[in-house]
Amino acid sequence: MALGIPYILIAEDERGQAEVLKYNLEEDGFRVGVAPDGRQALDMIAEALPDLLILDWMLPEMSGINIMKNLRAGTDTKLLPVIMLTARGEEDDRVRGFEVGVDDYVVKPYLPSELIARVHAVLRRARPELAEEKLEYGGIMLDLTRMRVSRDGDAIELASTEFRLLRALLSRPGRVFSRNRLIDLAWSTTTFLEDRTVDVAIKRLRQALNEGGKADMIRTVRSEGYSIE
Ligand code: CA
Repeated sequence: MALGIPYILIAEDERGQAEVLKYNLEEDGFRVGVAPDGRQALDMIAEALPDLLILDWMLPEMSGINIMKNLRAGTDTKLLPVIMLTARGEEDDRVRGFEVGVDDYVVKPYLPSELIARVHAVLRRARPELAEEKLEYGGIMLDLTRMRVSRDGDAIELASTEFRLLRALLSRPGRVFSRNRLIDLAWSTTTFLEDRTVDVAIKRLRQALNEGGKADMIRTVRSEGYSIE
């Protein structure tokens, strides 16, 4: 698991639905992967274990039920929290889903906000260490639930990348994060990003945090990366 930033995998073959959900989860501060079929979902899970899986029950290549059996038989994946997506009226699917160990279900069509509320509830139950909803350090307060930041009580407006950068830094004050690590934590993309992209975002974050002449709390560690101190 990435420091304090839960990674969610969506296994969903309906591309439009997967994209909308991905967008909304990212706006909520999660890192998100999408698998378009059952086999790729298992491959992606083997590569990087998510904190939670959103599993469409009707997937090409491998059904939801077989994916669940596979996951529950694996050492690393035995306890992976799973929310299943089922079609309206498929009561049998839900029963079978619970029999093979899904944690919760959501019926399609759903509102992204409804599903995200379930994600939070399942994560709180399954991974209480992820439920930390506020990060505070040196007068900076980051509210993960409301996506708000303040410093010494003054509200600060941040774009989502800067928000995630600050969240990463605040998860371990004093620890130096390399640019690569920050890219992993704050940009949900597999596209190659240059170090310079991180530097530019850090500059924007600094400007926002230091507004009104406040002391700079972000430390640049030459050729290493950044920390908050
Ligand atoms: Ca489907």
